[in-house]
Amino acid sequence: MMVNELDLLEQKAFYIGSSRNLDQSDKIIIGLPMDATTSFRPGARLAPYRLREVSEGIEEYSVYLDKSLEDIEFYDAGDVILPWGNVIESLRRIQRITAFFLDKGKKIYSVGGEHLVTLPLIRAYKSFYSDLVVIQMDAHADLRKDYLGEPLSHAAVMRKVLEEIGEKNLFQLGIRSGTSEEISFGKKYTNLYIDQFLSVLDEVKNKIGSKHVYISLDIDILDPAFAPGTGTPEPGGISSREVFKSILELSELNIVGFDLVEISPPYDKGDITSILGAKILREALLAF
Ligand code: MN
Ligand code: MN
Repeated sequence: MMVNELDLLEQKAFYIGSSRNLDQSDKIIIGLPMDATTSFRPGARLAPYRLREVSEGIEEYSVYLDKSLEDIEFYDAGDVILPWGNVIESLRRIQRITAFFLDKGKKIYSVGGEHLVTLPLIRAYKSFYSDLVVIQMDAHADLRKDYLGEPLSHAAVMRKVLEEIGEKNLFQLGIRSGTSEEISFGKKYTNLYIDQFLSVLDEVKNKIGSKHVYISLDIDILDPAFAPGTGTPEPGGISSREVFKSILELSELNIVGFDLVEISPPYDKGDITSILGAKILREALLAF
């Protein structure tokens, strides 16, 4: 039996300032509590809920952007109900719900979950935006052909994304971890910026121009000192301030979608990472 897309979503908490009116909102938050292929420490499935809970502690107004969540209409659509352990069906559901909202002209801001959720998001987005480019902010290249023989893995997600969007349409920022095979693959087929972030944003913006842009932010691009609550922390990363600066700078681009992935509340300390995630989401909602 065909179920309605909205029946595939469940609402346990609301992000601060969310409208209760789906039709009037052009921006949609979706939680994607997937945690099936996390290679090291699991727990990312708990992030969408925790992030909403702690969002109560931040202001609706952004001093960086001089703009408030009260000035925009956005709708928190809840979490996609996923069949635990069934990766194929989980990805299919995420893609279907993404396409459902894109078809209504909405812009999607999703919260993972592990990084593999970006693949079905991009599959749906690519069918709406043929010139789509992806900016990945991440400590890891995520360009493996497979992980332990499995190509559908968070450690291989950008390799699969590249198949969807085509070579050189992926911009990888802040990368500081990968196998030598991943790094040489990246140098050849993506725009790979090793251990570089704010200093290369002008170049990235010039290369992208007016194309449609999707931003995927893996929280482990930050140093574990700023974001300890993640599955595969990688020392040597950027600060929270640099992330907020980048959001401001990238807002000049034609951004059509955003995801925030790999926050893992069980490994967090005093909700540092979830609160950071809630604030990043606010900035993204206001800036993009
Ligand atoms: Mn990562
Ligand atoms: Mn990643």
